[in-house]
Amino acid sequence: MDFQFTPPARAVHSLFFHCSASDRPEHDDVAVMRDWHVNGNGWSDVGYHYFVKKSGEWQAGRALERTPAAQGDGFNTGTIAVCLHGLVKSAFTSEQFRTGHSMVRAICDAYGARGVKIRVHGHCEVYPKECPVFDYRRALGLDASGYPTGRPDFAVQDATPRFLASPLDLYIMVPGNADRVRRLQRALTERGFPCGAIDGLFGRLTRDALVAWQRDTGRSPTGVADYASRVALGVES
Ligand SMILES: [Zn+2]
Repeated sequence: MDFQFTPPARAVHSLFFHCSASDRPEHDDVAVMRDWHVNGNGWSDVGYHYFVKKSGEWQAGRALERTPAAQGDGFNTGTIAVCLHGLVKSAFTSEQFRTGHSMVRAICDAYGARGVKIRVHGHCEVYPKECPVFDYRRALGLDASGYPTGRPDFAVQDATPRFLASPLDLYIMVPGNADRVRRLQRALTERGFPCGAIDGLFGRLTRDALVAWQRDTGRSPTGVADYASRVALGVES
């Protein structure tokens, strides 16, 4: 599917790349991201404008006229956001990088024709978390200033296997992740559902404790720290 781009009416100066923080096949769709962001984070729509599946197929997300919601205060205005599905560095695909690069080209060319030079960044440049986890500068051919002046290297990483069953998904999506996970771990532990160390990492013990608490309180035992669970545990601020 060719990537077609028409600039929105709002001013744009930067393009940001993200990763989805999951490697599960059932999460490889923008509809799942929308559900996490709307029902998990309480936002009005998915935070990204484009989602790139492991196959390289892209899907439209948030309306381009709206600023992204996933980058942190002060870094949403004037930007466009792209998310590649994946969590583990080695599980992103060259097809995804190829699509990401065609987005970089189309967007930079469209603005270049208007005399605007777009910079391309990773989320981690403006927010203290490892996102995207892939080597986006090499994969997309970006220089240190974020301009696409180099040759992209689609083979910088390739996936074997592409999909993994990871216990780290979902909660990692929430901004301020580690502190929130620590609060969740404390809340579960205080209620008699120990998570092991209060380390801010949403691993297997935390997930198991959350499942046990959900079951004990008559909720569906999803292991997902969804909005309703966070409110009930008193960790949603
Ligand atoms: Zn991100």
